[in-house]
Amino acid sequence: MKLILATNNAHKIIEIEKILPANINAITLKQAGIEIDIPEPHDTLEANAIEKARTIHSMTGKNCFSEDTGLEVAALNGEPGVYSARYAGDEKSSEKNIEKLLQNLKNIQNRKAQFRTVICLILYEKEHMFEGVCDGIITHEAAGVGGFGYDAVFVPDGATKTFAEMTLEEKNAYSHRRKAMDKLVTFLNILPT
Ligand code: IMP
Repeated sequence: MKLILATNNAHKIIEIEKILPANINAITLKQAGIEIDIPEPHDTLEANAIEKARTIHSMTGKNCFSEDTGLEVAALNGEPGVYSARYAGDEKSSEKNIEKLLQNLKNIQNRKAQFRTVICLILYEKEHMFEGVCDGIITHEAAGVGGFGYDAVFVPDGATKTFAEMTLEEKNAYSHRRKAMDKLVTFLNILPT
């Protein structure tokens, strides 16, 4: 089965391609010849994921899926959440986002947080949603050089190092994105052929 993957984020593409089984083929926007900065105008991950998938579906008429992810920090009432990419401004700088997050959590004992991924699949004109959550804590300082976004300050429950200190395989063993993708893959594999 072929699905267009409605994202331009190279990190997400690498993680997702690693997760997908051989019978499901993700076509990137670049491979599909689509150049677009997909809008994310809404105030929920769900609405943004739907917007992204609908945008690509309306351009191509093809089966596709999108994902939207946010970091939800308990002591900050779920922030930055859907605004994770632009937490410190429109330039979407991961370093500045991390700096702002650590500053806002200064002297706060409760470091609990979760990454949440919402996937919207449009398959033969029907929409299907899948969610994956990864619980963990925010560290007091950044560690590691791998991954992207907030990976350097997030340690998933059950681990002793940040996502940025892990290999891709290690991150995928814990990650929100993998959990949501597992649900998508299970759904696709039980479809009648
Ligand atoms: P998006 O809106 O789904 O593209 O993601 C919003 C922001 O969340 C990204 O720009 C990253 O800063 C952050 N983010 C998303 N997924 C991850 C992840 O797996 N690890 C760390 N940060 C992430």
